[in-house]
Amino acid sequence: MPGVGGGANPGTCIPNGFHMRCMNSSACCGVNGIDGESGMAALSFVGDATVHLVFPLLCPMADMDAPLLPALQAIVGQANVLTSESDVLPFVIDWRERYRGRARAVVRPGSTAEVAAVVGCCAEQGVPIVPQGGNTGLCGGATPSADGNEIVLVLSRLNRVRAIDRDNATMTVEAGLPLASVQAAASAAGLLFPLSLAAEGSCQIGGNLSTNAGGTGVLRYGNARDLVLGLEVVLSDGRVWNGIITAAILKLFPQPRTSATAWVALADVESAVRLLGVMRQALGDRLTGFELISADCVALANAQFPSFPDPLPGHAWYVLVQADDAAADSALAAALESALAGAIGEGVAQDAAIAQSQAQSDQMWSLREHIPEAQKREGPNMKHDISVPVSRIPAFLARAREALDAQFPGVRYVVFGHLGDGNLHYNLSECHRLRPGCGVRRQLQRRARHRADEARRARAVQTGNRARADAAHQARARSGGKAQSRKGRLRND
Ligand SMILES: Cc1cc2nc3c(=O)[nH]c(=O)nc-3n(C[C@H](O)[C@H](O)[C@H](O)COP(=O)(O)OP(=O)(O)OC[C@H]3O[C@@H](n4cnc5c(N)ncnc54)[C@H](O)[C@@H]3O)c2cc1C
Repeated sequence: MPGVGGGANPGTCIPNGFHMRCMNSSACCGVNGIDGESGMAALSFVGDATVHLVFPLLCPMADMDAPLLPALQAIVGQANVLTSESDVLPFVIDWRERYRGRARAVVRPGSTAEVAAVVGCCAEQGVPIVPQGGNTGLCGGATPSADGNEIVLVLSRLNRVRAIDRDNATMTVEAGLPLASVQAAASAAGLLFPLSLAAEGSCQIGGNLSTNAGGTGVLRYGNARDLVLGLEVVLSDGRVWNGIITAAILKLFPQPRTSATAWVALADVESAVRLLGVMRQALGDRLTGFELISADCVALANAQFPSFPDPLPGHAWYVLVQADDAAADSALAAALESALAGAIGEGVAQDAAIAQSQAQSDQMWSLREHIPEAQKREGPNMKHDISVPVSRIPAFLARAREALDAQFPGVRYVVFGHLGDGNLHYNLSECHRLRPGCGVRRQLQRRARHRADEARRARAVQTGNRARADAAHQARARSGGKAQSRKGRLRND
């Protein structure tokens, strides 16, 4: 049975019953409820999350026994079915280069109808599909498995803004549009699409919705699922929700006219939780970001990126506070300043620096956003995203540290993230002073050996020019392989 899945995160199987043969002809029998002209079962978007079902429009292969690749080429064009090792390589390795798979082909449809036809052909021939957006997911969901039986369905050619409705504050975009382009299009219309995460220059809205991405604005605006009114999804039949997202109608908000950013120094995480309460009380829903950052994270980022210095050196913890207001001339900065002064007076915070310009605000955010890349550059690490009730975070951090210190003495904690919604990156790094034989060192070495074995196996079964593959891979790493910000520079986590 064909499925939609991925290496480390297998997805949903496509049920049988895909009514393919009708789709070979424009005179469809209508069993799938396909509109005679458009070939789509078009439901209008009403209220929340209405599904817009799109059935395969047309599979040009009359002969269902034809081999897969010619069938796919006939749908999307020869240039959009990649099979050579060097072409395929960037799509079978994840962002951290931790997961590596193999694929029969990388297929790049250019329209919803082509996605539908590709899904139809694969369903017919029992070929599993791994959808891939920007390939910035960190858990291998977009990486095919090592058996090489799947195709990778890349959505990046579906990258149009179909409509922006300013009065309705909605926009309809295709799944392959990078998140930063979604934000830019909303902004050009004088509105805000508030989903924001460090991979936004590379990740795509389809991937964001598929993973229900969070990011820095969750506190105020919610996760990706809170920002979507309707989806266009290619399914194998009309009964299931899981499928390949080809477009979405998104909620837009008024653009902030006034913003304020502060870097706040704290003695401990308990104080950060108290400060969150203070800021909520003072700023209400103008509080849009509340990022916790340990001093170790700041040191790590600063060591790798010296151009982002620590604004308030010498403290154990920091919080990056962002406040935005849709009204111009609001007294936002004054409200933030007075709330922080009160917090310092009461001993909740130790010190605070308020950005005096957009450049200073960008500098603070850059320091925060370069932490993951700094950790990646430093060497092996283990990443965890934890979700804990905000009030329980201090207890979690204390207990986890106690347990890990006992098991892995010397391990380094790289803890940062979205305290406002209880979602932290709880990462472990190898300590340079770590003694040989330490448990974490052994685990990291085991993983490295495992990855090397997998890579060797993949090389052994693949033919083609290795040098070309490496060159292509390196070229990708130099250009598009890293997460780029909407401003074109690297942003992280
Ligand atoms: C530096 C960095 C920072 C990050 N920060 C955050 C963060 O703060 N919060 C957060 O939530 N995540 C974060 N992530 C993880 C990642 O960016 C998000 O999960 C993002 O939503 C993935 O989008 P993508 O287009 O890259 O998806 P991919 O990695 O390509 O795919 C992710 C999953 O979605 C599926 N998929 C992709 N497109 C479609 C589609 N059109 N239809 C159906 N399924 C699809 C894939 O099969 C896969 O299972 C970060 C990643 C990086 C590298």
